[in-house]
Amino acid sequence: MDFNDADHNNPEQIKRQKSACDKKLTPISIDGNLQTGVFEGSSKNYLTTLKECECVDFSKRRFPCKHMYRLAHELGVYDLSSLTQTKVSTGSLKKDAPISIDLIIKSLPRGEARFLKYLLNQVLVQKNGVLHRIELYTPISALTKLEIIKETEDTPKTALLFYTINEIKEMLKSRNLPIPTAHRWKIIEPLAIEQVGDLLVQNLHKKTSSKLYEINSLFEQIWGSLYHRLTKEYPGEYVNPVNWIRGNLMAGDSPELLKYIYEYIQSEYAISATETQALVDIGKQAFASMIGEDSTSLKPEGK
Ligand SMILES: [Zn+2]
Repeated sequence: MDFNDADHNNPEQIKRQKSACDKKLTPISIDGNLQTGVFEGSSKNYLTTLKECECVDFSKRRFPCKHMYRLAHELGVYDLSSLTQTKVSTGSLKKDAPISIDLIIKSLPRGEARFLKYLLNQVLVQKNGVLHRIELYTPISALTKLEIIKETEDTPKTALLFYTINEIKEMLKSRNLPIPTAHRWKIIEPLAIEQVGDLLVQNLHKKTSSKLYEINSLFEQIWGSLYHRLTKEYPGEYVNPVNWIRGNLMAGDSPELLKYIYEYIQSEYAISATETQALVDIGKQAFASMIGEDSTSLKPEGK
């Protein structure tokens, strides 16, 4: 479908142009170069171009939907201002993104680019929010240097996930606080956050080696377009490097295979020999503990 070929004066199309002016339809992001936009939908975000849109309306009718009209307006391709009393503001986006998508793509090693794709999927598609836990060993130096992600402090609420109800009851006990008899999160959660929140955060390092990161909202307006671009340039799922190493070690530990693993990780993440060695060692440990579990369950009797 070509936007310019559609009959924009058809009453059904006028209806959509009017909806396009709604403030609620302010795009999450617009990419002027790629001529794409991301809009918030009811259950997921829609990626919109001048040719198509992921919304239900477009997939049913194959004529421009309200998102496409709004995108065309934001891009200066189609003017909606005559349809509404209140002026539809272009440039309604908060701020300019600090750097361009091209520069981000150029600056990220392949492995980090795939990881960013995974993170953006978490935010835009899975709707899991901007906070994300990242294991200590994960190579993210380019992403942090570009400030696409930044480390952030745990709060009682983010720390809470790592504790069991019994552990929280113990903490309440240690402070001589009344312990609820109910064994339900709904009751424990507010008590934990309010009364032992500081302990939850302080003791978190005993529970996990991961750190909490936030996807920097200064980049918010390009998230959609960036995600789209990453999906095109790096198809396939992101695999955590340690899991990747562990998986490859299943094929054995010949010097050739180890050399391949080593070189692949180093090139994928553009990391030093020492850092690569550390990652490979963690992968080896992960593999060994996996084999350990397997061999105990599979060990023949009497051996
Ligand atoms: Zn649409």
